[in-house]
Amino acid sequence: MNSDKGSPRGLVGVLLAAAIAIGAVAGCASGPAPSGTAASGQAASARGTSIVVTYSVLGAVVKDLVGDAATVTVLVPNGADPHEWSPSARDIETLMNADLLVENGLGLEGGLTSAFDQAEKAGVKRFVASDHIAVRTVGAGEGTDPADPDQAPGAQDPHLWMDPLAMKDVVAALAPELQADLGIDVSARATDLESRLDQLNDRLDGILSVVPAADRKLVTGHESLGYFAERYGFTLIGAIVPSLTSQAESSSAALAALTATIVAEHVKAIFTELGTSPAVADAVGKETGAQVVELATHTLPPDGSYFTFMTDVATLIADTLK
Ligand SMILES: [Zn+2]
Repeated sequence: MNSDKGSPRGLVGVLLAAAIAIGAVAGCASGPAPSGTAASGQAASARGTSIVVTYSVLGAVVKDLVGDAATVTVLVPNGADPHEWSPSARDIETLMNADLLVENGLGLEGGLTSAFDQAEKAGVKRFVASDHIAVRTVGAGEGTDPADPDQAPGAQDPHLWMDPLAMKDVVAALAPELQADLGIDVSARATDLESRLDQLNDRLDGILSVVPAADRKLVTGHESLGYFAERYGFTLIGAIVPSLTSQAESSSAALAALTATIVAEHVKAIFTELGTSPAVADAVGKETGAQVVELATHTLPPDGSYFTFMTDVATLIADTLK
């Protein structure tokens, strides 16, 4: 009995150990020996090739790429906050039984890191989306609490899905890995998807063109629109939670500074997200006169499409700030 007993971390550890034990039995299949390869092939044909993606928005793009060539499972349910999510025993089993794990990286899936490492040790292939993009880092003057490592200049921003061209880079890197690791040829689908992402980028540019230069200023729930701002020519003014994760806290000094900046910069709106306190956002809105608008930055729309997701984000920002 250790002091960890009953705590979430302790529980996950126990479940993980159990999942590894299950994986070890089935895991002969992952061995490097030729017989192991044959067993792996049998397992794959019995249940199909399994790709596990951590969160819904990235999952939508992976599904578009893979089509019917494999089963794509998303771990963090759509609508749950990937910044704060932790896996159930069943999720860990799903992870351990996957052929390939696709994750965002840059600390987005903080609650899953140890499970990923264990899955990799058990032979699950791993693809980290952020390894294949130009990573955005927090610029000087962004963020209002220099003591918080998530806001220090140079901190790496995980919200890469807010830029369709970053997602295009992810697709371009994932397609050959699907071929190499799983023997799945998605090259034709990749070409098609990459060109559709280019078209989406052009379409978003058009939608956002109605916003005057003076109003291209973003205040959000947390610092989630950095990639979007860089791609479409907006400036990050601040956030209710001035951090790259929704899980940080906001100090009263930081809120006072944000309120003053919103007034000084004539910012029209505060875009709230998953994990934003509505009471705090409403209070800042009331004090500054900025409109409080709910924006889905971490959640897919009902049709499950990345293209609808980004179009909805751009349309709401354009309609609010034009
Ligand atoms: Zn976020």
